[in-house]
Amino acid sequence: MKPMRIIDVVKAVKAIDYSSDNRFAEITSVVFDSRKASRESLFVPLKGATDGHDYVQAAIANGATATLWSAPEEEAPEGIAVILVKDTLTALQDLARAYLNEINPKVVAITGSNGKTTTKDMTAAVLNAKYNVHKTEGNYNNEIGLPYTILEMPADTEVVVLEMGMSGFGEISLLSKLATPDVAAITLIGESHLEFLGSRRNIAKAKLEILEGLKSDGLFIYPIDEPLLREEMPIQGDYHKATFGIDHTASVYAYGIQSGKEETSFKVNIDETVIFSIPVLGEYNVQNALVALCIAEHFGISMLDAKGYLEHFELTENRSQWVPGIKGSQILNDAYNASPTSMKAVLEAYRHLPNEGRRFILLGDILELGEQSEKLHADLATAIDPEHFDQIYLYGEEMSALFEALKETFPSERLHYIKGDKAPLVSALQNTLEENDQLLIKASFGTDLLSVVKSLRVSY
Ligand code: ATP
Ligand code: MG
Repeated sequence: MKPMRIIDVVKAVKAIDYSSDNRFAEITSVVFDSRKASRESLFVPLKGATDGHDYVQAAIANGATATLWSAPEEEAPEGIAVILVKDTLTALQDLARAYLNEINPKVVAITGSNGKTTTKDMTAAVLNAKYNVHKTEGNYNNEIGLPYTILEMPADTEVVVLEMGMSGFGEISLLSKLATPDVAAITLIGESHLEFLGSRRNIAKAKLEILEGLKSDGLFIYPIDEPLLREEMPIQGDYHKATFGIDHTASVYAYGIQSGKEETSFKVNIDETVIFSIPVLGEYNVQNALVALCIAEHFGISMLDAKGYLEHFELTENRSQWVPGIKGSQILNDAYNASPTSMKAVLEAYRHLPNEGRRFILLGDILELGEQSEKLHADLATAIDPEHFDQIYLYGEEMSALFEALKETFPSERLHYIKGDKAPLVSALQNTLEENDQLLIKASFGTDLLSVVKSLRVSY
């Protein structure tokens, strides 16, 4: 980050008081993990499972210059500038807002039920064609990660691309009002976090909170094929709108999609002379790329330049990623997260891929679906045709609903259901997999099929 004086931090966080020998001393990084503290760091003690105030001494030992403090004043540490605030998280957010105003880049905000990280990475890649871009690292998309991302911005940042995540009402509103985007995009409305929001309509409403901070002359990008967004869209607002999708009524649409195992190519109506190729599979990733291209066009980047940068975008780990499996098999690792929408999207892409061996799937529980979990798991059966897959492995309590649904159509010797201990699942797959077999592994992060991926992949 650009150096910031303690006195300016004090102002930005609306400190109650502060103690420092040198108010003009500068900080050059903001950390909430004491292990990452170093000289010129501002430590932010946050309250979570543990209380960050307990780690201030560790931050001091690592050389931190200043700390925020919201515990009793008499307990404040010595040997460091102490900035007293009411609430350290709010202070972190206020500081990020002040820093954002200081650097003043264009702000792009991306939310949606699935595809946020991928779209964020694609968008940052294409904007690199013309700008100094800073983006959310990994999945730092919440009320802590977003201000942290902002505070990490180098001084010469021209565009910052921010991922905004949520699990309930009010969260995107807070993030959007903090970041005041110039461009806001919703990738799609799915069923993630249904447990907390109750209905897809509510999910759409919660995502539309992204408009609450959008600049009045900003651009809002949303999927053409989601009527709920149009229905729930607030009436006020002079912002510009653009849609994307496969449908030719969208402002930006893709056609001529060709799916490969490692890449997907397509054309886009903005410039019909360019053939795009993305190093990832599935039509759903074309949808993500359309958002990126829509944003690229808004920022004056030619489609030819965008093509070059998109070709080399790097996907964040564990998202529809091929890894070499045991005995010459190939594993499509998508075990980082799952929703019914994304599971169907990946199954659809996967079943069309060229392959020389057999095609297996291992699906694990999708979490946080609330009362509708059983129905939504059972409904996945519509995406699984016995003709397309050789062996199906289902893992977890919730997957019993899909197991029951598939029993009717799937021969029992090709359908396996396991819950509890994963060891029998791993050994069954170890015994079954052969050269050229493909295996898709997908589940929510909490189901922990990443451990199964680890056991079945070849490590170097
Ligand atoms: P999180 O909520 O964990 O931050 P995310 O929205 O950032 O997730 P990604 O990490 O980009 O999403 O993708 C996660 C998985 O979602 C991918 O591996 C893929 O299976 C699926 N996915 C990605 N994009 C789409 C899309 N446009 N439509 C449906 N599924 C998608
Ligand atoms: Mg993400």
